[in-house]
This record gives sequence, C-alpha cells and structure tokens, in this order.
Amino acid sequence: MTTIRMQDLRKSFGTFDVIKGVDLEIEPGEFMVFVGPSGCGKSTLLRLVAGLEDITSGTLAFDEKIVNSLTPSQRGIAMVFQSYALYPHMTVYDNMAFGLKLAKGSADDVKRRVHKAAEMLQITDYLDRLPKQLSGGQRQRVAIGRAIVRDPKVFLFDEPLSNLDAALRVATRLEIAKLHAKMHETTMIYVTHDQVEAMTLADRICVLRDGNVEQVGTPLELYEKPQSIFVAGFIGSPKMNFLTEEFADAYKTDILGVRPEHLEIKDKDGLWKGKLLLAENLGSETFLYIDIGAKEPLVVRQDGSAHQQPGELLCVAPVNNNIHRFDQSGRPAAN
Ligand code: ATP
Repeated sequence: MTTIRMQDLRKSFGTFDVIKGVDLEIEPGEFMVFVGPSGCGKSTLLRLVAGLEDITSGTLAFDEKIVNSLTPSQRGIAMVFQSYALYPHMTVYDNMAFGLKLAKGSADDVKRRVHKAAEMLQITDYLDRLPKQLSGGQRQRVAIGRAIVRDPKVFLFDEPLSNLDAALRVATRLEIAKLHAKMHETTMIYVTHDQVEAMTLADRICVLRDGNVEQVGTPLELYEKPQSIFVAGFIGSPKMNFLTEEFADAYKTDILGVRPEHLEIKDKDGLWKGKLLLAENLGSETFLYIDIGAKEPLVVRQDGSAHQQPGELLCVAPVNNNIHRFDQSGRPAAN
C-alpha cells in the first residue's frame, strides 16, 4: 500500500511553468482522478509521478521514500496510455508476458500472472489472438492487463478510454471500476477530462487549473460544495447557470449559481420568467434553454421528453432553494 506525497512540486519546460507548486497527498489504495481544462497540466503531473518527466523542484515521495531521481521501473509503477501501444506481431499472451519475461520471471510465474490478469479482465479467450483481431475495447483491456501482471504499487492511467466509442467507453469504465475494487491495495491516479469518468471512478477528484490545485475532494463534495466558481462550473453537466446583477441582487450576492437539475418549471409564480429558446430532447431528459433576460440563456433540466414549444413563456424557480452564492472573487459568499 503506497502513499504518494507531492510537496511544492514544480515543472517547467524552459521558461514555461506548467506545474506551479502542487501539494497533494494520495492515500494508500486510493483512486485519485485529475481533471481540469485542456493544457492545465494533468498529464504532466501524472508523468512526473511516473518518472517520465524530470521534476524541476519540490519533492515526490512514495511512502517515506523520495523518488524524484528514480526511473519509472524503480518506482514500481505501471501506466496505461490513451494509445494502447501493443506489439502488433505478438499475441495477447506474449504482449502481456513481455515485461515479465524481460524481468526474468520464471516461466510458471509468468504464466500464472498472465492468466490471473486475463481472468480479471475477461480476456482469457483472446490470449492467442493478435491485437488486430481485437476490438478497441479488448485492446485497451490487454493494455491494462499488461500493466496489472507486474503487480504495480502504483497504477497510472492517462485518458485510457478516449479512443473508444461511446458504448465501449461505458463498458471499459465499468471494467476499471471493478479492477479498482479487486486491486484495492493499489494506489491509482487517473487523468481524464470526462466528467462521468471522474465522478463515477474517483474516491477523490483533484481539480487542476493552470498548473495549480484548485480543489480536492470526493465527487459529491465537489458537486455540493465547490470552493470556487471555477470548480462549480467544471463539475456537473450541463454546467451550473451563473447569474449576476438583479438576479444575484435578489439573493444578496454578487453571483448566483444554480444547477440545471435544481431548477423546475412552475405553472405560475415562478421566480423568473422567459421565452423558451430551445428544447434539447434526449428522451430520458430534456434541457430547456430559456431567455430570462440574463447574459446567457438559463438551462433547466427536466425529466422525460419536453411538451413545451419554443417561443412559449415559462416560469422557473430553484427547487428547495438549492443555490450557490459567490462573491466577486469567485469564492463562496460569506452568509
Ligand atoms: P489535455 O487535457 O489537453 O491533454 P493536460 O492538462 O493534460 O491537457 P499537459 O499535457 O500536461 O496538459 O500540458 C500542460 C502544458 O504544458 C501545455 O501548455 C503543454 O503545451 C505544455 N507541455 C507539455 N509537454 C511539454 C513539453 N515536452 N515541452 C513544452 N511544453 C510542454
């Protein structure tokens, strides 16, 4: 069981500071997800942990041991990338056994480990196939299997599902969740920009912004108690509505935040009134875009399909006063 500790961790490429002093502790067996906008430094931070990039300054420790200058293999990590990078001329079995054979494992041990990992990932039937005879999702499971066989202390994932189509993403996401449950002693870090992956897989999420940690917390903490407008707008889809001026004034705050799922259409006596601009009908739910006279249309989530027509006048109100108040600086407003 490995604790990962980052203290004032920094990374610059030339004069370009990418990671600007990260302090973060990842607990033994924890599944930590890094999220943040494109270019915020998620992959770079992961690569610093992996040992694929040199640390400019600060310390990275696994348990009590500082690992700044250790190579990836000395750190006992395994990493799964977006591109599966399997050897095309080798069977699934040989792909998975390759690293173990290099490490001079005994033939019996190699066989046992490969079969155990293959069972865990349900790819036993494909061990004799070549990668080109597999679907994208099966290939990614082989790439994960290749990492598992080495029994890593720390498991790193860099957007492993982003090359898969929607259905395979869901299926493989479930596989990763099951894997985490089985490998509960392995500390895992997972980089993604996919909301659902972050919310469903993480024990805790670390939101990065421009090379700094913006907030760390469980998925629910980030959703319910965002410590900034940035996090409030980043966690949740569609994103939180932000209202200023008279809309916020009525709540005695600078900026009012309300999630689309915390708004409802009222027959009358709604707090806000406006014309329906567009209804995005997804079958199980509908997103209504309403012009209430704010800077942007108000987005309201509704169960099921919409019966309202564009142009219709609608009344809207927050459900159970489920709102967030922020001050000018973007932090939660003091009550
Ligand atoms: P994305 O979600 O788009 O993958 P990210 O948050 O993972 O983004 P990084 O890949 O960590 O972002 O990159 C962070 C910043 O560092 C970017 O501006 C990128 O251009 C820069 N960067 C990354 N690697 C290098 C490098 N080897 N040399 C110079 N700049 C780099």
